[in-house]
This record gives sequence, C-alpha cells and structure tokens, in this order.
Amino acid sequence: MVRVTLVQGDITEVSVDAVVNAANSSLLGGGGVDGAIHRRGGPEILAACRALRASHYGKGLPTGRAVATPAGRLPARWVIHTVGPVWSREEDRSDLLASCYRESLRVADELGARTVAFPAISTGIYGWPLADGARIAIETVRDTPTGVEEVRFVLFDERAHAAFEAALG
Ligand code: ADP
Repeated sequence: MVRVTLVQGDITEVSVDAVVNAANSSLLGGGGVDGAIHRRGGPEILAACRALRASHYGKGLPTGRAVATPAGRLPARWVIHTVGPVWSREEDRSDLLASCYRESLRVADELGARTVAFPAISTGIYGWPLADGARIAIETVRDTPTGVEEVRFVLFDERAHAAFEAALG
C-alpha cells in the first residue's frame, strides 16, 4: 500500500521523482502553484507543454486528465500536469477532482515514479473548500492501486496542512 505523508512547504523545493502541477487546461502556465513551477523549473517545462498542446491537446488538456513533462531545473525528474475542476455550488464535480489524483498516479506508474508530490489541487484559485478537497485527495490516493511507494502532499500554508492532517485521520 502507498505511504501517504504530509509536509508544509513549497512543492518546487521537494526532491521526488514526480511533482504534480495544478495546471489549467491551456498548459501554458498560470498563477499559484503552476506559476511557481514554471518560474522555478525554467523554460524546458513550458517548451514541453507547448509541444504537447501542438501534438495532442490543441483544445487544451481536459479537466481531470494528466500528462507528464520533464521537470527542468526542479529537483524532480518529471512534472505531471493535471487540470482540476473549478469549484461549483450548483454542480458536484468531486469525480473530476478525484480523477486528477487517479490520473496523475496512472501517469506516475507509466513513468516508473516511486515518489510523487501533490499540491492541494483546486483549493486555490479554483475555490474548492479545503476540508472537502483534502478528504477527496486522501481518499482517492488511498483507494487507487499504484506502484508509487510514497505520495507526499506538500501544503503551502498551515491551514491547508491542518485540513490534510484532519483528513488523514
Ligand atoms: P488551483 O487553480 O487548482 O486552485 P492553485 O495553484 O491556485 O491551483 O492552488 C492550489 C493549492 O496550491 C492551494 O492550496 C495553494 O495555496 C497551493 N500552492 C500555491 N503555491 C504553491 C507552492 N509553491 N507549493 C505548494 N502549494 C502551493
């Protein structure tokens, strides 16, 4: 079974096989963790994202899906870009958020990654309530069969860290 660990910090600083990016469907960068990953990782990541758009995702990467690129100057081997759903009061998009974690682990398995770091997908600019986002993250990772040995949630602030600690139980 996968080992789930939590740390508070900046995901661009962690040494793991693969770092997951809460990207947007354009794959061309954005704010939050996406901006930080491109800034710290350098132009190699954006170049690989542009190539993926041109070859496979002309209309953008669909919500809930994941793709990998090299990690540029980050202390990781790969970045796995996944597109979280925007929070909606009217519509239950939990399956799409769970899909981000499942698909990212599937891509990690394809890469042969043993250690994977996740941010709290959708809980920033996309507005997902933190407690619910943490519950979905932990449950999905625990329920997904994978060859990944460690999933490390890297939470940016104390509030997010506390929410994941509560969800971990
Ligand atoms: P989304 O658009 O999916 O909501 P954001 O990047 O806005 O993505 O936020 C997702 C989560 O990532 C938020 O909890 C935010 O606080 C956190 N975050 C932002 N920058 C970093 C970083 N450098 N490392 C880890 N987490 C980060």
